[in-house]
Amino acid sequence: MASEKTLVCGAGGFIGGHLVGDLLRRGRKVRAVDMKSLDEWYQLFPEAENLQLNLQEKESGERAVTGCSVIYNLAADMGGMGFIENNKALCMLSVLINTHLVMAAKDAGVGRFFYASSACVYAADKQTDPNVTALKEEDAYPAMPEDGYGWEKLFSERMCRHFREDFGLATRIARYHNVYGPHGTYDGGREKAPAAICRKVIAAKLSGNKEIEIWGDGKQTRSFMWIDDCVKGTQMIMEGDYVDPLNLGSSELVTINQLVDLVEEIAGVKLKRRYNLGAPKGVNGRNSDNTLIRKIFGWEPSTRLHHGLEQTYRWIYERMAPASRDRSPRLAPTSR
Ligand code: NAD
Repeated sequence: MASEKTLVCGAGGFIGGHLVGDLLRRGRKVRAVDMKSLDEWYQLFPEAENLQLNLQEKESGERAVTGCSVIYNLAADMGGMGFIENNKALCMLSVLINTHLVMAAKDAGVGRFFYASSACVYAADKQTDPNVTALKEEDAYPAMPEDGYGWEKLFSERMCRHFREDFGLATRIARYHNVYGPHGTYDGGREKAPAAICRKVIAAKLSGNKEIEIWGDGKQTRSFMWIDDCVKGTQMIMEGDYVDPLNLGSSELVTINQLVDLVEEIAGVKLKRRYNLGAPKGVNGRNSDNTLIRKIFGWEPSTRLHHGLEQTYRWIYERMAPASRDRSPRLAPTSR
Protein backbone atom coordinates (compact mmCIF):
# COMPACT_ATOMS: atom_id res chain seq x y z
CA MET A 1 0.00 0.00 0.00
CA ALA A 2 3.05 2.30 0.39
CA SER A 3 2.92 3.65 -3.18
CA GLU A 4 -0.81 4.39 -3.01
CA LYS A 5 -2.17 7.66 -1.73
CA THR A 6 -4.06 7.61 1.56
CA LEU A 7 -6.80 10.14 2.28
CA VAL A 8 -7.40 11.24 5.87
CA CYS A 9 -10.65 13.18 6.34
CA GLY A 10 -10.84 15.29 9.50
CA ALA A 11 -7.03 15.63 9.40
CA GLY A 12 -7.11 19.04 11.10
CA GLY A 13 -8.67 17.50 14.19
CA PHE A 14 -7.29 15.54 17.11
CA ILE A 15 -7.21 11.88 15.97
CA GLY A 16 -6.87 12.74 12.27
CA GLY A 17 -3.75 14.83 12.95
CA HIS A 18 -2.08 11.99 14.85
CA LEU A 19 -3.06 9.49 12.15
CA VAL A 20 -1.53 11.63 9.39
CA GLY A 21 1.71 11.88 11.38
CA ASP A 22 1.88 8.13 11.86
CA LEU A 23 1.07 7.31 8.23
CA LEU A 24 3.83 9.67 7.07
CA ARG A 25 6.28 8.08 9.49
CA ARG A 26 5.33 4.72 7.95
CA GLY A 27 6.23 6.03 4.50
CA ARG A 28 2.71 6.57 3.15
CA LYS A 29 1.75 9.33 0.72
CA VAL A 30 -1.02 11.27 2.41
CA ARG A 31 -3.73 13.69 1.35
CA ALA A 32 -5.05 15.45 4.47
CA VAL A 33 -8.46 17.15 4.31
CA ASP A 34 -10.42 19.26 6.78
CA MET A 35 -12.95 22.08 6.54
CA LYS A 36 -10.99 24.29 8.95
CA SER A 37 -8.51 26.74 7.47
CA LEU A 38 -4.98 25.34 7.59
CA ASP A 39 -3.85 27.70 10.35
CA GLU A 40 -6.50 26.17 12.63
CA TRP A 41 -5.39 22.55 12.17
CA TYR A 42 -4.11 20.98 15.39
CA GLN A 43 -1.15 19.51 13.49
CA LEU A 44 -0.03 20.40 9.99
CA PHE A 45 2.51 18.24 8.18
CA PRO A 46 4.18 19.90 5.17
CA GLU A 47 4.99 16.46 3.68
CA ALA A 48 1.27 15.77 3.21
CA GLU A 49 -0.98 17.30 0.56
CA ASN A 50 -3.16 19.50 2.78
CA LEU A 51 -6.57 20.63 1.51
CA GLN A 52 -9.35 22.72 3.00
CA LEU A 53 -12.67 21.22 1.85
CA ASN A 54 -16.16 21.02 3.30
CA LEU A 55 -16.87 17.31 2.98
CA GLN A 56 -20.59 17.76 3.55
CA GLU A 57 -20.61 18.88 -0.10
CA LYS A 58 -20.76 16.10 -2.70
CA GLU A 59 -18.23 17.72 -5.08
CA SER A 60 -15.74 18.15 -2.24
CA GLY A 61 -16.04 14.48 -1.38
CA GLU A 62 -15.29 13.59 -4.99
CA ARG A 63 -12.36 16.02 -5.11
CA ALA A 64 -10.93 14.57 -1.88
CA VAL A 65 -11.22 10.95 -3.01
CA THR A 66 -9.84 11.37 -6.54
CA GLY A 67 -6.45 9.67 -6.82
CA CYS A 68 -6.62 7.99 -3.39
CA SER A 69 -6.98 4.25 -2.88
CA VAL A 70 -7.22 4.16 0.91
CA ILE A 71 -9.65 6.39 2.81
CA TYR A 72 -9.99 7.13 6.51
CA ASN A 73 -13.14 9.07 7.41
CA LEU A 74 -12.60 10.79 10.75
CA ALA A 75 -14.40 14.01 9.83
CA ALA A 76 -17.41 14.82 12.00
CA ASP A 77 -19.01 17.77 13.73
CA MET A 78 -18.46 16.56 17.26
CA GLY A 79 -17.30 17.21 20.79
CA GLY A 80 -17.75 16.07 24.38
CA MET A 81 -21.12 15.67 26.12
CA GLY A 82 -21.53 19.44 26.46
CA PHE A 83 -21.48 19.74 22.66
CA ILE A 84 -23.35 16.65 21.51
CA GLU A 85 -26.25 17.04 23.96
CA ASN A 86 -26.87 20.59 22.77
CA ASN A 87 -26.15 20.22 19.03
CA LYS A 88 -28.01 17.12 17.89
CA ALA A 89 -28.94 18.46 14.45
CA LEU A 90 -25.35 19.54 13.70
CA CYS A 91 -24.10 16.11 14.77
CA MET A 92 -26.61 14.40 12.49
CA LEU A 93 -25.51 16.48 9.51
CA SER A 94 -22.20 14.61 9.57
CA VAL A 95 -24.17 11.88 7.81
CA LEU A 96 -23.62 13.94 4.64
CA ILE A 97 -19.85 13.56 4.99
CA ASN A 98 -19.87 9.77 5.15
CA THR A 99 -22.61 9.43 2.54
CA HIS A 100 -20.76 11.51 -0.04
CA LEU A 101 -17.46 9.82 0.77
CA VAL A 102 -18.76 6.25 0.34
CA MET A 103 -20.48 7.26 -2.90
CA ALA A 104 -17.27 8.80 -4.25
CA ALA A 105 -15.21 5.84 -2.98
CA LYS A 106 -17.50 3.35 -4.70
CA ASP A 107 -17.38 5.28 -8.00
CA ALA A 108 -13.59 5.58 -7.82
CA GLY A 109 -13.18 1.90 -6.92
CA VAL A 110 -11.02 2.60 -3.84
CA GLY A 111 -9.41 -0.35 -2.06
CA ARG A 112 -10.26 0.32 1.59
CA PHE A 113 -12.60 2.67 3.47
CA PHE A 114 -12.47 3.26 7.23
CA TYR A 115 -15.26 4.84 9.26
CA ALA A 116 -14.68 6.22 12.77
CA SER A 117 -17.72 5.23 14.79
CA SER A 118 -18.26 5.64 18.51
CA ALA A 119 -19.31 3.95 21.73
CA CYS A 120 -22.26 6.38 21.57
CA VAL A 121 -23.97 3.84 19.26
CA TYR A 122 -24.64 1.58 22.24
CA ALA A 123 -28.15 1.28 23.62
CA ALA A 124 -28.80 3.68 26.50
CA ASP A 125 -30.57 1.04 28.63
CA LYS A 126 -27.32 -0.96 28.82
CA GLN A 127 -25.51 2.00 30.40
CA THR A 128 -27.67 3.03 33.36
CA ASP A 129 -25.48 1.58 36.13
CA PRO A 130 -22.01 2.94 37.05
CA ASN A 131 -21.10 -0.68 37.98
CA VAL A 132 -21.03 -1.50 34.30
CA THR A 133 -21.05 -4.68 32.34
CA ALA A 134 -18.61 -3.76 29.56
CA LEU A 135 -20.24 -3.27 26.16
CA LYS A 136 -19.91 -5.98 23.56
CA GLU A 137 -20.28 -5.22 19.86
CA GLU A 138 -23.68 -6.95 19.73
CA ASP A 139 -25.08 -4.56 22.38
CA ALA A 140 -25.70 -1.89 19.72
CA TYR A 141 -28.94 -3.69 18.82
CA PRO A 142 -31.87 -3.41 19.42
CA ALA A 143 -30.93 0.20 18.66
CA MET A 144 -31.38 3.05 21.13
CA PRO A 145 -28.14 5.03 20.75
CA GLU A 146 -27.19 8.46 22.07
CA ASP A 147 -29.69 10.90 20.56
CA GLY A 148 -28.36 12.84 17.56
CA TYR A 149 -24.65 11.97 17.49
CA GLY A 150 -25.11 8.24 18.23
CA TRP A 151 -27.90 7.80 15.68
CA GLU A 152 -25.73 9.37 12.98
CA LYS A 153 -22.86 7.03 13.88
CA LEU A 154 -25.09 3.94 13.82
CA PHE A 155 -26.67 4.95 10.51
CA SER A 156 -23.28 5.61 8.91
CA GLU A 157 -21.97 2.25 10.17
CA ARG A 158 -24.95 0.66 8.46
CA MET A 159 -24.33 2.63 5.28
CA CYS A 160 -20.75 1.28 5.20
CA ARG A 161 -22.04 -2.26 5.68
CA HIS A 162 -24.49 -2.01 2.79
CA PHE A 163 -21.97 -0.37 0.47
CA ARG A 164 -19.73 -3.34 1.25
CA GLU A 165 -22.47 -5.94 0.73
CA ASP A 166 -24.13 -4.37 -2.32
CA PHE A 167 -21.20 -2.68 -4.11
CA GLY A 168 -18.11 -4.51 -2.82
CA LEU A 169 -16.55 -1.43 -1.16
CA ALA A 170 -14.13 -2.85 1.45
CA THR A 171 -15.27 -0.97 4.56
CA ARG A 172 -13.84 -1.24 8.09
CA ILE A 173 -15.34 0.28 11.23
CA ALA A 174 -13.98 1.03 14.72
CA ARG A 175 -16.17 2.10 17.61
CA TYR A 176 -13.88 4.46 19.51
CA HIS A 177 -14.35 4.78 23.27
CA ASN A 178 -13.19 8.21 24.63
CA VAL A 179 -9.81 9.05 23.16
CA TYR A 180 -7.41 11.50 24.83
CA GLY A 181 -3.92 12.91 24.36
CA PRO A 182 -1.97 16.01 23.25
CA HIS A 183 -2.98 18.10 20.22
CA GLY A 184 -6.67 17.79 21.05
CA THR A 185 -9.45 20.17 22.07
CA TYR A 186 -9.12 21.30 25.68
CA ASP A 187 -11.34 24.39 25.78
CA GLY A 188 -14.09 26.17 23.85
CA GLY A 189 -16.98 23.75 24.54
CA ARG A 190 -16.06 20.68 22.46
CA GLU A 191 -13.50 19.22 24.87
CA LYS A 192 -13.97 15.83 26.50
CA ALA A 193 -13.54 14.86 30.14
CA PRO A 194 -9.76 14.15 30.41
CA ALA A 195 -8.76 17.40 28.66
CA ALA A 196 -11.46 19.38 30.49
CA ILE A 197 -10.34 18.09 33.90
CA CYS A 198 -6.67 18.79 33.08
CA ARG A 199 -7.60 22.35 32.02
CA LYS A 200 -9.68 22.97 35.15
CA VAL A 201 -6.98 21.64 37.48
CA ILE A 202 -4.30 23.71 35.71
CA ALA A 203 -6.51 26.84 35.86
CA ALA A 204 -7.06 26.28 39.59
CA LYS A 205 -3.34 25.76 40.13
CA LEU A 206 -2.34 28.86 38.17
CA SER A 207 -5.00 31.13 39.68
CA GLY A 208 -4.74 29.86 43.25
CA ASN A 209 -8.53 29.34 43.33
CA LYS A 210 -8.54 25.86 44.87
CA GLU A 211 -11.96 24.76 43.64
CA ILE A 212 -13.14 22.97 40.48
CA GLU A 213 -16.53 22.23 38.99
CA ILE A 214 -17.29 18.64 38.02
CA TRP A 215 -20.18 17.74 35.71
CA GLY A 216 -22.52 15.24 37.37
CA ASP A 217 -21.88 13.60 40.76
CA GLY A 218 -18.43 12.30 39.77
CA LYS A 219 -19.55 8.71 40.25
CA GLN A 220 -20.23 8.04 36.55
CA THR A 221 -17.72 5.57 35.08
CA ARG A 222 -15.79 5.60 31.80
CA SER A 223 -12.68 4.23 30.14
CA PHE A 224 -10.24 6.43 28.23
CA MET A 225 -7.99 5.37 25.35
CA TRP A 226 -4.53 6.86 24.84
CA ILE A 227 -4.16 8.39 21.36
CA ASP A 228 -1.24 6.16 20.28
CA ASP A 229 -3.36 3.06 20.98
CA CYS A 230 -6.16 4.60 18.92
CA VAL A 231 -3.89 5.29 15.94
CA LYS A 232 -2.35 1.80 16.11
CA GLY A 233 -5.72 0.04 16.46
CA THR A 234 -7.27 2.11 13.66
CA GLN A 235 -4.63 0.97 11.17
CA MET A 236 -4.78 -2.61 12.45
CA ILE A 237 -8.53 -2.72 11.82
CA MET A 238 -8.14 -0.99 8.46
CA GLU A 239 -5.50 -3.44 7.27
CA GLY A 240 -7.17 -6.55 8.74
CA ASP A 241 -9.87 -8.83 7.35
CA TYR A 242 -12.58 -8.28 9.98
CA VAL A 243 -15.43 -6.30 8.41
CA ASP A 244 -18.00 -5.71 11.18
CA PRO A 245 -17.77 -2.85 13.73
CA LEU A 246 -15.15 -3.46 16.43
CA ASN A 247 -14.71 -1.82 19.82
CA LEU A 248 -11.52 0.23 20.01
CA GLY A 249 -11.16 1.40 23.58
CA SER A 250 -9.39 0.90 26.86
CA SER A 251 -11.02 -1.37 29.44
CA GLU A 252 -9.42 0.43 32.41
CA LEU A 253 -12.61 1.64 34.10
CA VAL A 254 -12.51 4.73 36.35
CA THR A 255 -15.05 7.05 37.93
CA ILE A 256 -14.80 10.72 37.02
CA ASN A 257 -13.74 11.28 40.64
CA GLN A 258 -10.85 8.85 40.12
CA LEU A 259 -9.93 10.69 36.92
CA VAL A 260 -9.76 13.92 38.95
CA ASP A 261 -7.68 12.14 41.64
CA LEU A 262 -5.14 11.15 38.97
CA VAL A 263 -4.90 14.65 37.50
CA GLU A 264 -4.56 16.18 40.98
CA GLU A 265 -1.74 13.75 41.73
CA ILE A 266 0.06 14.67 38.48
CA ALA A 267 -0.45 18.39 39.22
CA GLY A 268 0.53 18.06 42.88
CA VAL A 269 -2.62 19.81 44.15
CA LYS A 270 -5.73 18.89 46.08
CA LEU A 271 -8.86 20.83 45.15
CA LYS A 272 -12.36 21.29 46.54
CA ARG A 273 -14.90 19.69 44.18
CA ARG A 274 -18.18 21.40 43.34
CA TYR A 275 -20.59 19.00 41.63
CA ASN A 276 -22.87 20.49 38.98
CA LEU A 277 -25.73 18.00 38.82
CA GLY A 278 -27.49 19.98 36.07
CA ALA A 279 -24.59 19.80 33.60
CA PRO A 280 -24.56 17.26 30.72
CA LYS A 281 -22.94 14.09 32.01
CA GLY A 282 -23.92 11.35 29.54
CA VAL A 283 -24.69 7.78 30.53
CA ASN A 284 -23.98 6.56 34.09
CA GLY A 285 -21.46 3.93 33.14
CA ARG A 286 -19.61 2.71 30.05
CA ASN A 287 -16.70 0.38 29.41
CA SER A 288 -15.28 -1.41 26.38
CA ASP A 289 -15.48 -5.21 26.23
CA ASN A 290 -12.32 -6.12 24.34
CA THR A 291 -12.89 -9.86 23.95
CA LEU A 292 -13.44 -9.62 20.20
CA ILE A 293 -10.48 -7.36 19.31
CA ARG A 294 -8.20 -9.57 21.47
CA LYS A 295 -9.47 -12.65 19.67
CA ILE A 296 -9.00 -11.17 16.19
CA PHE A 297 -5.74 -9.25 16.59
CA GLY A 298 -4.24 -10.61 19.82
CA TRP A 299 -4.01 -6.99 20.94
CA GLU A 300 -6.04 -4.34 22.77
CA PRO A 301 -5.42 -0.73 23.87
CA SER A 302 -3.54 -1.09 27.15
CA THR A 303 -1.64 2.14 27.87
CA ARG A 304 -2.31 2.98 31.52
CA LEU A 305 -4.43 6.06 32.09
CA HIS A 306 -1.87 7.60 34.45
CA HIS A 307 0.86 7.39 31.81
CA GLY A 308 -1.22 9.06 29.09
CA LEU A 309 -2.66 11.68 31.42
CA GLU A 310 0.81 12.83 32.47
CA GLN A 311 1.64 13.65 28.85
CA THR A 312 -1.74 15.21 28.16
CA TYR A 313 -1.52 17.33 31.31
CA ARG A 314 1.98 18.53 30.39
CA TRP A 315 0.89 19.49 26.85
CA ILE A 316 -2.13 21.48 28.09
CA TYR A 317 -0.06 23.08 30.87
CA GLU A 318 2.47 24.34 28.31
CA ARG A 319 -0.36 26.06 26.45
CA MET A 320 -1.97 27.61 29.53
CA ALA A 321 1.00 28.68 31.65
CA PRO A 322 1.89 32.33 30.95
CA ALA A 323 5.63 31.67 30.40
CA SER A 324 4.95 29.12 27.69
CA ARG A 325 2.07 30.78 25.79
CA ASP A 326 2.62 31.50 22.08
CA ARG A 327 4.97 28.56 21.80
CA SER A 328 2.43 26.30 20.17
CA PRO A 329 4.12 25.01 16.99
CA ARG A 330 1.75 24.60 14.05
CA LEU A 331 4.18 22.70 11.88
CA ALA A 332 4.46 19.23 13.33
CA PRO A 333 7.59 17.10 12.94
CA THR A 334 7.00 13.56 11.69
CA SER A 335 9.35 11.96 14.20
CA ARG A 336 8.70 11.85 17.95
P1 NAD B 1 -12.11 16.48 16.12
O1 NAD B 1 -13.30 17.36 16.28
O2 NAD B 1 -10.84 16.90 16.77
O3 NAD B 1 -11.82 16.22 14.57
C1 NAD B 1 -12.83 16.14 13.62
C2 NAD B 1 -12.44 17.01 12.46
O4 NAD B 1 -13.43 16.91 11.43
C3 NAD B 1 -12.36 18.50 12.83
O5 NAD B 1 -11.07 19.00 12.57
C4 NAD B 1 -13.40 19.15 11.94
O6 NAD B 1 -13.03 20.43 11.46
C5 NAD B 1 -13.52 18.16 10.80
N1 NAD B 1 -14.79 18.31 10.10
C6 NAD B 1 -16.03 18.45 10.63
N2 NAD B 1 -16.93 18.64 9.66
C7 NAD B 1 -16.26 18.61 8.49
C8 NAD B 1 -16.63 18.76 7.14
N3 NAD B 1 -17.92 18.99 6.80
N4 NAD B 1 -15.68 18.68 6.19
C9 NAD B 1 -14.38 18.47 6.50
N5 NAD B 1 -13.96 18.32 7.78
C10 NAD B 1 -14.88 18.39 8.76
O7 NAD B 1 -12.56 15.02 16.63
P2 NAD B 1 -11.69 13.74 16.93
O8 NAD B 1 -11.68 13.55 18.39
O9 NAD B 1 -10.40 13.80 16.20
O10 NAD B 1 -12.63 12.61 16.30
C11 NAD B 1 -12.38 12.02 15.03
C12 NAD B 1 -13.47 11.01 14.71
O11 NAD B 1 -13.54 10.02 15.74
C13 NAD B 1 -14.88 11.61 14.62
O12 NAD B 1 -15.62 10.94 13.64
C14 NAD B 1 -15.46 11.31 15.98
O13 NAD B 1 -16.87 11.26 15.95
C15 NAD B 1 -14.85 9.95 16.28
N6 NAD B 1 -14.80 9.66 17.71
C16 NAD B 1 -13.96 10.35 18.52
C17 NAD B 1 -13.91 10.05 19.88
C18 NAD B 1 -13.00 10.78 20.82
O14 NAD B 1 -12.98 10.45 22.01
N7 NAD B 1 -12.22 11.76 20.38
C19 NAD B 1 -14.74 9.05 20.40
C20 NAD B 1 -15.59 8.37 19.54
C21 NAD B 1 -15.60 8.67 18.18
